[in-house]
Amino acid sequence: MSSDSEPQPQIVSAESNLPHQVSEAVSEYQAKPVTIDTDTRLASAGETEAMWPGRPARRSVMRSLKRSDADTKSRQEAAAYRGSSATSHTRRDLLTGDWTIFAPKRDLRPNDYESTKQAIAAEHPAVQLPAVQVPAVDEACPFCVGAENRTPEAVWSAKLGDQGTTPLDSAATRFAGPVVEVVPGEQQNWDVRVVPNKFPAVSPCDAEKGDHGDRHNLFPISDVVGGHEVVVESSLHAESITQYDPALVYMTLLAFRDRIRHWRQVRGINYISVFKNCGPEAGASLRHSHSQLIATSLMPHHVRTTLLRCEHHRARTGCTLACDLLRAELAERSRVIDRTDSFVAFCPFSSRFGGMIRMTSLEHQPHFDQMTETSLDQLSSFLWRVLCWVNEAFPGKAFNYLLHTCPPGCQQPEAFQWSLDVFPRLNKTAGFEWSCDCMINSLLPESAALRYREIARRHDPRNVLLTR
Ligand SMILES: [Zn+2]
Repeated sequence: MSSDSEPQPQIVSAESNLPHQVSEAVSEYQAKPVTIDTDTRLASAGETEAMWPGRPARRSVMRSLKRSDADTKSRQEAAAYRGSSATSHTRRDLLTGDWTIFAPKRDLRPNDYESTKQAIAAEHPAVQLPAVQVPAVDEACPFCVGAENRTPEAVWSAKLGDQGTTPLDSAATRFAGPVVEVVPGEQQNWDVRVVPNKFPAVSPCDAEKGDHGDRHNLFPISDVVGGHEVVVESSLHAESITQYDPALVYMTLLAFRDRIRHWRQVRGINYISVFKNCGPEAGASLRHSHSQLIATSLMPHHVRTTLLRCEHHRARTGCTLACDLLRAELAERSRVIDRTDSFVAFCPFSSRFGGMIRMTSLEHQPHFDQMTETSLDQLSSFLWRVLCWVNEAFPGKAFNYLLHTCPPGCQQPEAFQWSLDVFPRLNKTAGFEWSCDCMINSLLPESAALRYREIARRHDPRNVLLTR
């Protein structure tokens, strides 16, 4: 435990590099008399083991979470939309232009199949940190170690280096990422591996162009080329990313960065999608934890619309729309869950999905693939925690996450900001949503943020230690 007499580590704040509009919001956020995170320091070895099992202590930055007026505000705002007088309302996502219907009463309807309320109703469950399990190898699984010949040859692989060669803890190395050996192909004893998808959604870039003949103007058709890759996130048969060492999450993010960099250089690629489907309801077909990347010549309509809106906002105001929205979320506080020196996690005002968490950097950064190893290491710890919160708030629920980075086809990268959206699959997309492409969300983001903050507090190592 810390005390005033203990020397405090020097934390280099990224906020000095923030755009002024975000800096103001961060200052305002921190100036509140009671803030969510009031203490930043390195975790002790015991605390690190409790919070991030298996993680070397020297890399862990720890914060304390205290009850804050953000909780009160979340409750007040959520209460205003609940109860017998509650009415449905719509909220607009200024990034996409989409309207989402918020209908808290929908959660009260009878459901013969399942109840999402049951998943979030348990108040103050026993403190339970996710245990790191040691998964075994499933001989029937094509992603497990030993089955490399059942997938195409790897285009990228990484393994954890010899920790014995890790430099001694010092100010210069404290925030360096884990020692990882990366090669652009196969390697023995791999931990994370990227392979081309055996069943790709797009044709290879060098594929012969299709002969579509003389098409009628009303029936347009075009080739779509690019790459479709699978990121195998562990050599062992783990279904959930929270089951194993966060260092694997770091290597997974490293794979995202490197493969996005690769595809950004390929001529004709206009959009790169990185996503994870975990659980059959989220679209996964194999249990072994994995994520995917699709690089395509197609610029999806929805992405193009978002880019145009961002560019228009920048031309009109000189500011980045996502930074303005982040500033507003930080000032509003009721939907912010937690933040580190560099990153923040919050439930967006107009979340299309119940329980959705958006992670992004406090510093304006259009390209995810420009992140340093140090930043990715910090982000991987944060992402691991976010996934633990989702798992605890909605046990057993499938989830997706989507990485949005400035696409190669973007004309004004400065107008964009990368983000990573994580959302449990609480509600099924039903007839109304399909009929008009408008989502109905029965869980207010203020309520979700409140729930996540409570869990984040219980995961705080000092709170855990106090209960032992
Ligand atoms: Zn497997």
